[in-house]
Amino acid sequence: MHIGLPKEIKVKENRVALTPGGVATLVRRGHTVTVQQGAGLGSGIADQDYVNAGATLGSADEAWAAQMVVKVKEPIQSEYHYLRPDLLLFTYLHLAADRPLTDALLAAGTTGVAYETVQLDDGSLPLLTPMSEVAGRLSVQAGAYHLQKPVGGRGVLLGGVPGVQPGHVTIIGGGVVGTNAAKMAMGLGAKVTILDVSQRRLAYLDDVFFGKITTMMSSEANIRDLLPTTDLLIGGVLIPGAKAPHLVTRDMLKLMPEGSVIVDVAVDQGGCVETIHATTHDDPTYVVDGVIHYGVANMPGAVPRTSTFALTNQTLPYALLLADHGPSALHRNPALMLGLNTHQGKLTYQGVADAFELPY
Ligand code: NAD
Repeated sequence: MHIGLPKEIKVKENRVALTPGGVATLVRRGHTVTVQQGAGLGSGIADQDYVNAGATLGSADEAWAAQMVVKVKEPIQSEYHYLRPDLLLFTYLHLAADRPLTDALLAAGTTGVAYETVQLDDGSLPLLTPMSEVAGRLSVQAGAYHLQKPVGGRGVLLGGVPGVQPGHVTIIGGGVVGTNAAKMAMGLGAKVTILDVSQRRLAYLDDVFFGKITTMMSSEANIRDLLPTTDLLIGGVLIPGAKAPHLVTRDMLKLMPEGSVIVDVAVDQGGCVETIHATTHDDPTYVVDGVIHYGVANMPGAVPRTSTFALTNQTLPYALLLADHGPSALHRNPALMLGLNTHQGKLTYQGVADAFELPY
């Protein structure tokens, strides 16, 4: 199959959908790959690296002319004219939040397979997980930085030093984000408390961290108890398909020390802190009642190189299946079938159909 790798053109998107290693794997399997010139530069990957891996360099038109196009972000309006009936598009689509793109894919008859709805038997979303891992780990880095006095923080070093208490990191939500945040915070030497509503999850965390972090049932009373000693609060709650609940309300902020920091990673689902709103990497924080709020909605964008490699590690096996078998790969792999959102002008994913009250 001929595979195209266009450069991402959405503002501030520096990731790329295949690494040179991924290209080499496809080429070894007998496929041809056209990489748009400069596609990897934002992730520190030179054109020559793709050529060495066996790709041909080309223009955006040439990359998009391939049978299958592999991307990171959903096509934006200026890319809609590339959509066509015999195109297999494999990328994040997030259609339920994007009616114009849904209409464009249906009108063009494109087969759209969305990373975010590929789902394994156990309900997990393997192509979202790597970005939660990145955001969870980054949340501690961002929080530690903003705790420093020159940038307005409380002046606390998370690891402390011998003879001085470490900082206290409270993490609400012990899923992928929360677990990765806990690993980083523990690695820095901070005191870590993690809250979740799932007893099973708390037991798992207690096992894997070998009692080196404190686990607590997530309840308003427990959160209120923890806030006065919390230097860094990390929000990593997810209720699938719903907005995040506000577990830290505005009146609870006054319980937190002046100059403490909130990093609400769940901001993309509305956030679990009432006073959080989405911010950008250019202007990531603001202060409410003396507490620094960090609400960047696309945290992995800060580390595109790591994010590119993390994402492509997970997408490549599926991209290979699609390249080897075309759309019939979907029948061979139930997880990939759940990724199918549009096909021959029809919506094939219930969540998107429900969002727009369209036939499914
Ligand atoms: P996950 O499903 O792995 O974990 C969510 C956890 O929240 C689960 O363990 C669940 O039991 C727990 N939870 C649910 N209700 C709770 C409550 N009331 N109190 C405490 N815990 C509760 O999800 P994840 O992959 O860790 O993602 C977490 C959030 O981070 C999502 O909203 C995701 O979209 C977001 N995210 C944001 C970015 C970003 O750049 N800002 C990047 C990646 C992920």
